[in-house]
Amino acid sequence: MINTPLTGSNFIGGARSSLGEESFHAIRAEDGSTLETAFSIATSEEIERAVVVASQAFPEYAACDSSQRAGFLEQIALNIEGLGERLVERACEETALPTARVTGERARTCGQLRLLAELIREGSWVDARIDTADPNRASGPKPDIRRMLVPIGPVAVFGASNFPLAFSVAGGDTASALAAGCPVVVKAHPSHPGTSELVARAIIAAAESTNMPKGVFSMLHGGKEVGQELVVQPGLEAVGFTGSHAAGRALFDLANARPKPIPVFAEMGSVNPLFVLPGALQQKAEQIAKGYATSLTLGVGQFCTNPGVLVCVKSEATDAFLRAVSSHLAESVPGCMLNEGILRNFHAGADRLSAHGLVTDLTKTEQPNGRAQAALFTTSARHFIENRSLQEEVFGPAAIAVVCDGFDQLEEVAKSLKGQLTASLFFEESDAVAAQQILPILTRLAGRVLANGFPTGVEVCSAMQHGGPYPATTDSRFTSVGTAAILRFVRPIAYQNVPDEFLPAELQDANPKGIWRMINGRFSNAKTG
Ligand code: NAP
Repeated sequence: MINTPLTGSNFIGGARSSLGEESFHAIRAEDGSTLETAFSIATSEEIERAVVVASQAFPEYAACDSSQRAGFLEQIALNIEGLGERLVERACEETALPTARVTGERARTCGQLRLLAELIREGSWVDARIDTADPNRASGPKPDIRRMLVPIGPVAVFGASNFPLAFSVAGGDTASALAAGCPVVVKAHPSHPGTSELVARAIIAAAESTNMPKGVFSMLHGGKEVGQELVVQPGLEAVGFTGSHAAGRALFDLANARPKPIPVFAEMGSVNPLFVLPGALQQKAEQIAKGYATSLTLGVGQFCTNPGVLVCVKSEATDAFLRAVSSHLAESVPGCMLNEGILRNFHAGADRLSAHGLVTDLTKTEQPNGRAQAALFTTSARHFIENRSLQEEVFGPAAIAVVCDGFDQLEEVAKSLKGQLTASLFFEESDAVAAQQILPILTRLAGRVLANGFPTGVEVCSAMQHGGPYPATTDSRFTSVGTAAILRFVRPIAYQNVPDEFLPAELQDANPKGIWRMINGRFSNAKTG
């Protein structure tokens, strides 16, 4: 099944389904031509069915031993690798991303599936806490209470356009929901439906060969309407989304207006301010200018961590620094964006800044037809603080440099910004006092603070935080990258005075899984009782 021609169907509980009369074709991003295979837009009946089978599969899937679920995730990774060059070629065709980037993304996708498999096989992530009974407590008998995390239920995942593999059908949201024990219904991104089908088949084949319940995974094709209908299905318990603020917020509002509201973990991007302190500007201007231009143009700027705002203090070095950034950007080759809509938005955003009365266009680039050319604009800190529209993200390789009169004004700029995924600070020893002063402000502003580094390139590991205060995400307490992403799709349950033999293995006295637990306030991997 994995290697047969594309079918264009939706996949519901392991079976193909094409009930609808409406369909669409994938577009070759490079030239806008139509690719073969019509993809069937899911009907209301199919959307409902996908969530119903996910709800039916939930009790069985949640009850699977974590080593079985780990085996399922590892088999998905193997099957994705087994798709070979066909997957890479199709993803490149649909997104215009270069082969090396897609190959790297495939490795990242499989790597995160394996990392989550390792996490759940080890088992301590369930955060087991045990407070043993004390019938003789002076203030009255203390009950036996045991708490752990359990899967929340069926999760809807929205594939992102800018990561056709790592934030898409088998991306971080799907991997963490499946690892937690939640069935997944994916709404594929219409920008890469063929890539999505190949990966969906890899997941379904893995589910079959590891004996997972049929409804553990479904995938639907379609646009806004399909997404909106999916989010209001009564059987759904959570949503994972990466994309625009407009879409993320619309889905969040819909989910909250349901008779039974559910959490939406939407990652909606940010402008990722990068602050350069005076000592760093004096000592490393060229190095920072080059690194900044590389970071801004990476992947044609189509990263949620793209550093779209550059903040520095006016000095003798500032003009030369901004000239150096501009010239590196002007030398960059115009890039093909993921789809026509994203290119249109980028051109409109760059034109808006170029025409703005309070902004100077430093690169003075004409945007070429069908391509995105990197651009740098500049404005004063006062204008930037007073004109909120200058703080809006332009998705793509464009940035605004904000020049401050002094360090106090740089602080003001940091305080004026909305919630961000990242904030970067460049400093030298001579900047130590200022750096210490601004760090707490950046900590309040962003989910990840970087010292002397660029924010593009998000490591997948246990300590990663890819999230941030609103509007970067709808819930700053969680991450969508790294093993902690699993915590979005669980809820805590406490058992009071429940006999040992009725408890999940993780909470039993004998600690059969040998996991780390908090027992009467202290971490231990020992038995209790
Ligand atoms: P998008 O517009 O957010 O779309 C993402 C997904 O949500 C698509 O499947 C889309 O379907 C659906 N959708 C859009 N509006 C919706 C709504 N009101 N209700 C329900 N579902 C909705 O993202 P995109 O198409 O990838 O790119 C558009 C813009 O999003 C970019 O120009 C950029 O500004 C931003 N973006 C941000 C990130 C990030 O990292 N946070 C990543 C990618 C894009 P349709 O395709 O039918 O609209």
